[in-house]
Amino acid sequence: MPIATIAPEVHPNLQKFLSKKIHPMLIGGRWVESASGKTFKTFNPATGEVLGVISEAGAQDVELAVSAAQKALNGSWSKISPAEREKILNKIADLVESHSEELAQLETLNNGKTIRESKNGDLPLAIGLLRYFAGWPTKIHGETIPVSVPYYPGAKFLHYTVREPIGVVAAIIPWNFPLLMAVERLAPALACGNAVILKPAEQTPLSALRLGELLLEAGLPEGVVNIIPGFGPSAGAALAAHSGVDKVTFTGSTEVGREVIKASAGNLKRVTLELGGKSPNIVFADADLEAAAKGMFMGVFYNQGQCCSAGSRIFVERSKFDELVGILSERAKTVRQGPGLDPKTQMGPLVSEEQRQRVLSYIDSGKKEGAKLLAGGEAVSGAGYFVRPTVFSEIKDTMKIAQEEIFGPVAAVMPFDSVEEVLSRANDSAYGLVAGVWTKDVKKAHQMAQNIKAGTVWINCYHFVDAAAPWGGFKQSGYGREKSQYAIESYTQLKSVWVDLN
Ligand code: ADP
Repeated sequence: MPIATIAPEVHPNLQKFLSKKIHPMLIGGRWVESASGKTFKTFNPATGEVLGVISEAGAQDVELAVSAAQKALNGSWSKISPAEREKILNKIADLVESHSEELAQLETLNNGKTIRESKNGDLPLAIGLLRYFAGWPTKIHGETIPVSVPYYPGAKFLHYTVREPIGVVAAIIPWNFPLLMAVERLAPALACGNAVILKPAEQTPLSALRLGELLLEAGLPEGVVNIIPGFGPSAGAALAAHSGVDKVTFTGSTEVGREVIKASAGNLKRVTLELGGKSPNIVFADADLEAAAKGMFMGVFYNQGQCCSAGSRIFVERSKFDELVGILSERAKTVRQGPGLDPKTQMGPLVSEEQRQRVLSYIDSGKKEGAKLLAGGEAVSGAGYFVRPTVFSEIKDTMKIAQEEIFGPVAAVMPFDSVEEVLSRANDSAYGLVAGVWTKDVKKAHQMAQNIKAGTVWINCYHFVDAAAPWGGFKQSGYGREKSQYAIESYTQLKSVWVDLN
């Protein structure tokens, strides 16, 4: 396996980071190798070269990380005031901001996404999350509630509530937005006073490890965040089952989400799940067609289609179907694919060879089931895990490519004739993460928004997210909400205090 040659334009800090022989894990404020001594390789998906060798966390490392998190929780971290937590989170935000160039490059090198997306999407969103949640620690409070006790007439009580941290939070995250997902969990968890064990995805551990260095630089006490890269069935499963972990926040596939629920049953952990999607993006004939065409393209192909929120089922009202699908297919055919660090690249590789094979098998199934291929439909030959952006039409709703999450650059386009029809087809999915609606008719837009079963509905836009807007799924897309004030609820638990004043 060739070792990656790091391009000279790569930031000097990053060159230094990448020159480590082994990337250790962060446990209890120290960088340590795994107890077993095991390591695994991580790759540059644009070339297939090895980008780093990572210490692989196993059950013993999970044990150590849980102990370190518990120690921090019961020690130094519990003594830090909300105002101090706010300062630390702002410091982390400052550090991520001042290192954003190198972090964006690292994300692109390890995940494959274009530098434009890393720089303009992942990094500013991560910084936004840190700043948003930095504002919360001093605003997390309970309330006083007027209580009465029927068997004690006239008696006076003071009753108040307190929001307390849940404890040790395990964050198990995927590879599609590695740094952003890490920050999306760390920021609210820390704002609420929890300690965290972060398990990045095995495909993309590097940006989380670099973030770990910045967390220490920001003065986060030891053990408050532990970062243990490893594989799902070993490190991930051990975290989900561990009785010292109080909450699991998981983002990944629906199948693994089910495993996490089962594993969490032993000590009845709090669980929040952000799972798959097969989201409808619905374009009415009265939409701004230029904007809708862009929204269709970006909705399904952003991040090479590796988004849980990809708008992969595209419904277009019949009178505009040929026109819009023509634009989409043409753009798909002409998109410039290449290494993400090249500023001219418009679409990078998929994250891994395994993922490429998975996507290609879906493309095969579309062909076999009789869908019509309008663009793409194959891998790009040569180095790297590239797949051509693919558009299928003549889809039956029962086909695999219309039902299952592909997590790659594959669009299924379907015409429709009425609001009722498109609503029922859009909702005919096991998933319910997001939906897009394109129309200039305000009434129709809101009627759609009210009737679509999804956690987020975008009207005349797509893939917009913000730290302040709740994020999560309906149906088998998961439960609980990340981001926003609702994350504060899910990273705290409520205590009810009664005081007898008689
Ligand atoms: P994907 O198919 O997108 O890789 P997964 O659901 O397999 O998504 O993985 C998402 C995250 O869940 C990764 O960090 C992975 O290591 C972890 N994971 C995979 N299997 C398990 C498991 N059985 N228990 C806990 N975590 C797991």
